[in-house]
Parts: sequence; structure tokens; C-alpha cells
Amino acid sequence: MTALTFPLADAARRVSPEERAAILADPGFGQHFTDFMAHTRWTSESGWAEGELIPFGPLSLSPAAAVLHYAQEIFEGMKAFRHADGSVWTFRPEKNAERLQRSARRLALPELSTEDFLASVKALVAADEPWVPAVDGDEASLYLRPFMFASEEFLGVRAAQTVDYYVIASPAGNYFPRGVQPLVVWITDTFARAGAGGTGAAKCGGNYASSLLGKREAAQHGADEVLFLDSESHTAIDELSGMNVFAVTKDGRVETPVLSGSILEGVTRDSILRLAADRGYQVSEERLIAAELLERVASGEIVEMFACGTAAVITPIGEFRSADGTWTVRDGGSGELTLSLREELTGIQYGRVEDRYGWLT
Ligand code: PMP
Repeated sequence: MTALTFPLADAARRVSPEERAAILADPGFGQHFTDFMAHTRWTSESGWAEGELIPFGPLSLSPAAAVLHYAQEIFEGMKAFRHADGSVWTFRPEKNAERLQRSARRLALPELSTEDFLASVKALVAADEPWVPAVDGDEASLYLRPFMFASEEFLGVRAAQTVDYYVIASPAGNYFPRGVQPLVVWITDTFARAGAGGTGAAKCGGNYASSLLGKREAAQHGADEVLFLDSESHTAIDELSGMNVFAVTKDGRVETPVLSGSILEGVTRDSILRLAADRGYQVSEERLIAAELLERVASGEIVEMFACGTAAVITPIGEFRSADGTWTVRDGGSGELTLSLREELTGIQYGRVEDRYGWLT
């Protein structure tokens, strides 16, 4: 099979340079979209069609498209960063390609090869290059959202025979305009995000739909985020609705829940495990029981906790709340290792720190 290319259609930019400059001055997150999008379609008969770059705009979809009824849909989230010399880079994009392939297998969708995934992202970033925010000390980037869904017009429950894949892009401003603020995290025992044998390890829309009530419950308790426990025993920590979690102990251990099958394998999580191990920390991936963890927070054995993901990179957790009480992590502020890992990771992404792992493309 030959690799796909995504040639640019003969189309003008959708947004004027003046309008784009106004958006880039204060992009927010996920509110504005670029000029183009990458697209290809798969059919069970012919496989993936040749790719294309077309103007960003509404899709035409049958009301009977399977995705609207059975949620056969997966996606990815990644960023393009501008360096001081003007060049534009993505961070470990092959990890996103591989995760999209794992998600595709779980949702009975066709796999897109790593080569084709990278080609789609590269083509879009090249065409939308003026949309990658300039470096100005802020952590701005171009957020990339590849996604794939069952577009076949058919109401039977089976894997779709027509599937569309797109990549759209959205300029993202500093996630923390007022600086990094420690999160208050609500531990829910009402809702679970994913069950054993379910889709927790896949990046599919349904996981996020099922997390929304948990987030609402968290907000009702004055918290920023919700922490989900495993759905079987309701004792072990899984993850937040869109971030993995880490704990740092007084004696230099860095701990995160083991990939249990119901946790999304974060690219940021994987990168942090590597950075921490190379700094000489003892890193461990194991089942973390919430009650024990909170006791270790209370006793002072755990001195830092943080959440991590593409959007917010690394964010300190200052406090946990649950139906049983409140636990402050050390003084509720931002931990030293948390901030220093954050600095190193963003340093690599923005080209301030040498890319010694070859993580940039
Ligand atoms: N868990 C969930 C449920 C997520 O949605 C995300 C964001 N993709 C993460 C963890 C973190 O993954 P990554 O570091 O690859 O962004």
C-alpha cells in the first residue's frame, strides 16, 4: 500500500490575516479554528482513499450516520509549538498515532498507519503554519485534533463500512493565564469513568460523555476536577476526566497508577516517567488505593501530587475532597518537583531545553 498524501485544494484562506492576528492575540482554548482541515475516507471495499486538505467548515452527514447513534468515534489531542527561530515542532506524534491505532482496534474502526497519520498532521500544520502562535514567553500552541468516526448511513448495530478521518486545528493560548494554579480535586464514589473490559484505555467520545456528570458533581463541591476510582472495587485511583495523576513522596519516589486497562495511556505520563527516572527518582506504576494515598498525604509522606496531559502539561493538585473529608497536599501550593518537571517538559517542547530524547518532529 502506498502512503497517503494530503495535497492542498486550490482554496483561499478562510480567515483574513487581520482577523487571524486578532484571534491569536487572545485565542483561549478550542474556540477558534484554522483555515484548513485534513481528510480521508475509508470504505471496507477500497480502504483509505487519497487524502486532501480542504477548507475548515461544516460536514455534511446523514442523520442516520452510525456515529450519531452508536458513538463509534475516536480522537487524539496533540500540539504544535513554535520555537524561537520560527520553526514549528510536534511532540512525540508517533505516540498519538499508535494510541489512535489502539483506540481504533477497540472501537472496531480501521487503523490508520503511523506514516499516514504523521502525513496528515504534517500537511495540516504546514498549510496552517501562520496559525501557530509566536513565542512570546506564553505557553501558546496550535492544538491538533485528529478524529475518526462511523459515517455510514445505516442504523444496524455493526462496525461501519464507511469511516471518515479528519484533522482540525485550533490555536490555544496559555492554559493558565494567571500562572499555574493548584487544582482542587473531587474524588467521586458516585460515578465511574470506565469499567473492566470497557473502553477506558481508548480515546473515544463516549468516555468523555460519561465523565461529564462526575465533573458537574465536582463543581458542586467547589472542585476543579473529578478523580475517578476503578469501577469494580471503587478503591483504586484511575485518573481525572482528561489527565493522569502522579504522587511524589518525601523520600523521592514518583508514583502513578498502573495502566489497568481502564486508564488512558497519556503521552505526558510516559514522558514524565522517563524524565523522573533519568533524574534518579524511583518511579513506580502500581495500583494506588485512594484511602491509603490520602492517609499518606495526611501524614506528610506524600509531599506533591500533580495531574498531567497535553492541554495543561503538568498541574499541581493542592487539595482532595470527597464525601469523607478534605486533604491538603503539603501546604496546598505547587510542589518543587512538579514545577521543575513542568519547566523541563515545556522547555523541550518550546526548544529552550535540548531535545535529548528525540521527542520533537
Ligand atoms: N487521560 C485522559 C482521560 C485524557 O483524555 C488525557 C488527554 N488526552 C490524558 C489522560 C492525558 O493524555 P496525554 O498526556 O496524551 O494528553
